[in-house]
Amino acid sequence: MKPTPFDYTTARSVAEAVALLADPTRDAKIMAGGQSLIPMLNMRLARPELLVDITRIPELSHLTVDASGALHIGAAVRQSRTAADPAVRRGWPLLAAAIEHIGHPQIRSRGTVCGSLAHHDPAAELPTVARALDARFVITGPRGIRTVRAEDFFVATFSTAVGEDELLLEAVFPPPPAQHGWAFEELTRRHGDFATVAVSVLLERDSVAGTVRSARVVFSGAGPVPVRLPAAEDTLVGTRVGEEALAAARRAALAGLSPSADVHASAAHRRETAAHLLVRACTTAWERC
Ligand SMILES: Cc1cc2nc3c(=O)[nH]c(=O)nc-3n(C[C@H](O)[C@H](O)[C@H](O)COP(=O)(O)OP(=O)(O)OC[C@H]3O[C@@H](n4cnc5c(N)ncnc54)[C@H](O)[C@@H]3O)c2cc1C
Repeated sequence: MKPTPFDYTTARSVAEAVALLADPTRDAKIMAGGQSLIPMLNMRLARPELLVDITRIPELSHLTVDASGALHIGAAVRQSRTAADPAVRRGWPLLAAAIEHIGHPQIRSRGTVCGSLAHHDPAAELPTVARALDARFVITGPRGIRTVRAEDFFVATFSTAVGEDELLLEAVFPPPPAQHGWAFEELTRRHGDFATVAVSVLLERDSVAGTVRSARVVFSGAGPVPVRLPAAEDTLVGTRVGEEALAAARRAALAGLSPSADVHASAAHRRETAAHLLVRACTTAWERC
């Protein structure tokens, strides 16, 4: 299928992009890497009159760590650049590892981190990572700039807190705990596919007690938004992630997750797989602590 006719423009500043989005005479849509948008146009799932390319806006090309130790990823920053960045690999290895599960090198060299987050496919890798790392999202539009936390950002399948006339400027990842371990596990039908189910785990180690001080467990493919599972996290806190804790975490996942079925997997298969991946991820994350 071919897209319906559309115009294309390259915005040179954030102000220009926002003005184009706010123009009531034309239905404009942001284009970043185009790796989800162009297929949607070809399938006529989206029919914008104007594509506003934001990848040449200098204000959006930053990949920096600020004085507080937080990582800022501008909206024009590609997934491949992020995964290869030494500061990201050192400080946010969960993010770098998850990006390597996205599609193929060609996709990652065009697709942006913020584009994946703004698109919010519930089977995508990055929303679950953003939730696990407690990311913040800086959004601008005609009503000004606001910051939204990850727990409020993902609203429903293919829907986020970014309004039709707004632009996601950057994703901000706070510094991870000093002594922590992480793991990302996913099941896909073929290498490079979207996740049938995936889990991000972040464990903070109490260096005095030698046990887990805090835990974050977030699944993708288990609901319309990234699913954080406090019941599983509670089974890990205060333990050394031994057999008993892992069995309790597995039970919590089986009891607490209610994924839906689709052509790729039944709900029961997704739930069993999620519980299995959780055990594997917790084991790895603890070893990395
Ligand atoms: C063959 C193939 C395989 C893929 N496999 C995977 C996979 O395994 N896992 C995975 O997660 N993804 C996968 N993807 C999707 C890929 O990760 C995309 O790059 C990503 O989903 C969207 O990023 P983008 O920069 O290309 O955004 P675009 O496609 O340009 O935009 C996507 C949507 O987000 C909006 N948008 C983009 N940026 C902004 C912004 N800054 N502010 C507001 N709205 C914005 C656009 O308007 C559009 O609606 C795959 C894509 C292809 C083609």
